[in-house]
Amino acid sequence: MISMYKTQEIKALQNSFSDISEAFVSLIYISRLLGQDNRLVLHGGGNTSLKSRMNDIFGKDIDVLHMKASGKDLSDIGPNGFVALDLNTLQHLRDISDISDDHLDKALRRSKLDPDSAEPSVETLLHAFVSYPFITHTHAEAILMISNCVGGQSILQDILGKNVCVIPYVSSGLSLAQTALNLLKHYPYVDAIVIMHHGIFTFANDAQTAYERMIYYVSQAERYIEEKIKQYDKIQTERFCSGKDDIQRCLSVIRGICSIAEAPGRYHRWILELRQSELLLSIASSKSADFFCRTGVLTPDHVIRTKNQFVYIDAIPQSDHELKEYIREAVSTYQITYLQYVDACSEKEKIQLSKTDTIPRVFLIRGVGLIALGNTSMAAQIAADIAERTLILKEKALCLGEYQPLNRFHVYHMEFWQLQQKKIRDTHHLLLQGQVAVVTGAAGAIGYGIAEQLLAAGAVVALCDVDEQRLSHVYARLSEYYNPKSIACFCFNICDVDAVCSAFHSICLKFGGIDIVVPNAGLAHVNKLESLDTMQFSKVIDVNMLGTFHTIKASIPIFKRQNTGGNIVIISSKNVFDPGASFGAYSASKAGAHQIGKIAALELAEIGVRVNMINPDAVFGDKTISSKLWDEIGPDRMKSRGLDPDNLQTYYWQRNLLKMPIYGKDVGNAVVFFASNQTPTTGATLPVDGGGPGAFPR
Ligand SMILES: [Zn+2]
Repeated sequence: MISMYKTQEIKALQNSFSDISEAFVSLIYISRLLGQDNRLVLHGGGNTSLKSRMNDIFGKDIDVLHMKASGKDLSDIGPNGFVALDLNTLQHLRDISDISDDHLDKALRRSKLDPDSAEPSVETLLHAFVSYPFITHTHAEAILMISNCVGGQSILQDILGKNVCVIPYVSSGLSLAQTALNLLKHYPYVDAIVIMHHGIFTFANDAQTAYERMIYYVSQAERYIEEKIKQYDKIQTERFCSGKDDIQRCLSVIRGICSIAEAPGRYHRWILELRQSELLLSIASSKSADFFCRTGVLTPDHVIRTKNQFVYIDAIPQSDHELKEYIREAVSTYQITYLQYVDACSEKEKIQLSKTDTIPRVFLIRGVGLIALGNTSMAAQIAADIAERTLILKEKALCLGEYQPLNRFHVYHMEFWQLQQKKIRDTHHLLLQGQVAVVTGAAGAIGYGIAEQLLAAGAVVALCDVDEQRLSHVYARLSEYYNPKSIACFCFNICDVDAVCSAFHSICLKFGGIDIVVPNAGLAHVNKLESLDTMQFSKVIDVNMLGTFHTIKASIPIFKRQNTGGNIVIISSKNVFDPGASFGAYSASKAGAHQIGKIAALELAEIGVRVNMINPDAVFGDKTISSKLWDEIGPDRMKSRGLDPDNLQTYYWQRNLLKMPIYGKDVGNAVVFFASNQTPTTGATLPVDGGGPGAFPR
């Protein structure tokens, strides 16, 4: 590991942040350097600070601590990623003997110069008590590997030298801050502290030195490990990978078993993240796999993301029934062990656990790899990133001797520490959070509107369409407003049943399963029966009716494996009840698809899958996402009525009862209504057409 500090880069950064001090810019610069190296910092881990002076809201010049905000990512941090705190207020806490979580939280919030700013890092007090202007802190991998081994403390002390204090684990917060303060009183020459099983802090009078001390000390640890690896005779493990079907079966079954029924028909569901690197597959096949899963996190900061232990599955039974039983048993054993741990560690007040608290967040499966669970796609990815590094480092650390994790009481304290829990508290639980939606015909105006409303309601969305170019355009536009990790594109033709099954398989690999299916892809053709070509008729039937059938059929095995119900919402048409002349192929195909929906409602009720239809009429797009269907048939439809094609949209809006335009997002709202199981309804039809007596469902 070498220093990446470059004076010219810091000068360039000063130009972009001209309204803040040079010292603050240098803090931002070194924070980014640390955050951009995964060996030092993963997902919001690590923190940095600067002490300086600035005016408070009354214009008084005071001592200030610029502290990294809790959970913020260092890699792209800017001035707003730091919170300005009144240093003197924080330093009052130096002499108190104890403080409750609640009071500490209040004290931290009270010290904020701007009450509206983000919450400061949980390690703020150490930064406040140690008087050096610049402080950096990371959970560097090399330091963690050695500190989690038997004898790690003396090894680290030898490697790092006398200017570093290597101390046993102390709980973060007031205890750690007071310990650091006392150490520096007795050993004023110390410029870094390593806390066993936790990480390293470096101190300096300037940013460059604080950063380069971090690089230097971590490099010393890396060098020691490299030497040990050279001497270690590693046992090669055969990498074993199951077939694609087994992988998808595992994902769907895990997703189903870990879902929690909250009310009849409603579940707390998870987004899954699959990792299958060569190294992970080899670890999952190794003799130590189970041991790695049981031995706990590398640093307790990770426990809120991955929990302390992972579930190891050593085999994949052949039948779905046996697989479900096998995984159910493993999850149940995990939950019993977890409850015992919580019981044993909670001394005074008992923690009120929710049902989701006992659910494992990480599975390691022989032949499959790693599967992580999260309330959102982001949470699943963070858990997967941390768990993947944890397993790889534990395997690498075999050369260092016996693994010795932090004791579970300390892990428990960190897991349920109020300030840590705040980082993951779900304050904006959305209606469809944790659900995976599939929208076909997603590149059109209605598809876009549906995808947008599903994302707004918290679902992750698989955008499916045959038109790759339009699909990537829709993806780009949605990504401007929603987390790109919650959106994925799948390009295929719904007329090809194998292509549909293969795409559904890929969607399961991407997000873990499927909960909401929206057959929306459609095609239209304007012609009287007399002159309608059989090929053209068949083409419309293929997309609108056969495509709907394929989409529903491909979803059924997945719904069955998950066993948590689901929703199919078919985008039908007002033409089903109110057909138009010269529109025979379209009206017949939509009526067929509608009827398939009713049959599906009859057949799938027993597995809790609801099937409903939406009948929109005259949905036009805008300039960026136009309606492909109307682009193609609009002028012909107007001509067939003897009307001016330029008045297309006005004509359609004026003919409904409410005289209202209909947008894709209106259809999207109707999809969200059905998908969120707000009423016990299946087999129903909801018009989204502004009202038309001829199209009233009957
Ligand atoms: Zn830390």
